[in-house]
Amino acid sequence: EVRVRFAPSPTGFLHLGGLRTALYNYIFAKKYGGIFILRLEDTDQSRLVPGAAESIEDMLEWAGIPPDESPRRGGSTGPYMQSQRLDLYNQTAQQLVDSGHAYYCFCSSQRLELLKKEALRSGQTPRYDNRCRHLRADQAQEKLAQGASYVIRFRLEEGVEPFQDLIFGWNRHEVAQVEGDPVVIKADGFPTYHLANIVDDHYMKVSHVLRGSEWLISTSKHLLMYRALGWQPPTFGHLPLLMNKDGSKLSKRQGDIFIETFKRDGVLPEALLDITTNCGSGFNTNRMGRRIDELISEFNPSKITTHSALLDLEKLPEFNRLHLQQRIEDEQQCDLLIQDLQEQIYQAYAEQIQDKDVLHEDYIRRVLHLRKGHISFLKELVSPTYSYLWVRPSFSSQEVASLTGEAQHIASLLLKLIEDRGEELSVDRLGKDLKAVAKQAKATKYREVMKLLRLVLSGQQQGPSVAEMMVSLGSAEISHRFQKLLL
Ligand code: GLU
Repeated sequence: EVRVRFAPSPTGFLHLGGLRTALYNYIFAKKYGGIFILRLEDTDQSRLVPGAAESIEDMLEWAGIPPDESPRRGGSTGPYMQSQRLDLYNQTAQQLVDSGHAYYCFCSSQRLELLKKEALRSGQTPRYDNRCRHLRADQAQEKLAQGASYVIRFRLEEGVEPFQDLIFGWNRHEVAQVEGDPVVIKADGFPTYHLANIVDDHYMKVSHVLRGSEWLISTSKHLLMYRALGWQPPTFGHLPLLMNKDGSKLSKRQGDIFIETFKRDGVLPEALLDITTNCGSGFNTNRMGRRIDELISEFNPSKITTHSALLDLEKLPEFNRLHLQQRIEDEQQCDLLIQDLQEQIYQAYAEQIQDKDVLHEDYIRRVLHLRKGHISFLKELVSPTYSYLWVRPSFSSQEVASLTGEAQHIASLLLKLIEDRGEELSVDRLGKDLKAVAKQAKATKYREVMKLLRLVLSGQQQGPSVAEMMVSLGSAEISHRFQKLLL
């Protein structure tokens, strides 16, 4: 059975890099009929960020890639928070000690600090010198009995444990050559990442570990631990990192890569899923506008490459535009957008709305269908450019009086036209009609006529075509706005 997991540490909120790792796991699970697990690795108690654990799960749900088993949902291999599994880690560490694969280490932090300094002075990478490996069992027991503070270290065996990574291929990494024996249980009784991670992957029956490539280097160490415990290791696949377009690190400090920020700014989750997979690899085709079901069907793990994925966030509005259009074209999704927009209109214009009909869902639906493919974000529709849709432009009596007789003539031609057309307005048809109106108003150029009409309809100099403005407003409202001009 395929079982994969996303295992973030709640030391921060979910960002684009994490979302992408979660997404590949989700897709992998769904493609192969497996289970997607969310496990929170909260063993570094000093770095926990309040609210992060809840928020990570919220964001996965919002993004449409909810876990099957998680802290919130539970599951047969829970609990899914490492801080609730301490017994399991301690039992396993004990098992390692008993079988001679791990040992108590009583080295003081001063001693470790000194070792580090010496190494750095002679230009070497600091590593523990494995001194406590050589303590006899009775010596260790005595210290324990005295209540000495200790950590438990895993005894790294010499030799390589070659393994085949799904993405990076064969790896042979001689850990004992470069590292001292790693701590598995810290002085506070909490496990380190390395121990907790393999214990959980084992007991949660994880079949494939798909995680960021920064962990590739730790995998050999993990495999030594699997062997020491007599456990069958999962298959590993390390995902290339997500970087900025210019190859620089995707920074969390910029604050603009957090999923909650995108959500707040009106970015659609499917646009985020699309953009974070588009720059990478792993799909049979690469095109914009893919939804999750398409990502799943086009997923092909053998197409994941080892080089970093370069993210071009400047393209996000374009991705969002495509997905907003898809939502508008889906009846149910469109109803939700209408509700959302109703609230936004009300918030932005509550006091200025003269005609309650602008909050009517049929009216908003018509506007959405006319503007789809042009707007990137729903909130654009409540910006000043589109205020004419919700609020009538106002003109002073002076402004109206200053209109020439010609403008009056044009207004009356337009009113006549609207009357003739009745309720049946279409952008194409009106386009032609407006040309005819301009022709009839001989003296003025077409452009000037359009400028005038646009001004009367919207109070603006720019915006959608006049024909589209008219179709969205509807005959009654057009008449209303033009009538005011007729003296
Ligand atoms: N807690 C680790 C992280 O935050 C998980 C790494 C893994 O998936 O094994 O990246």
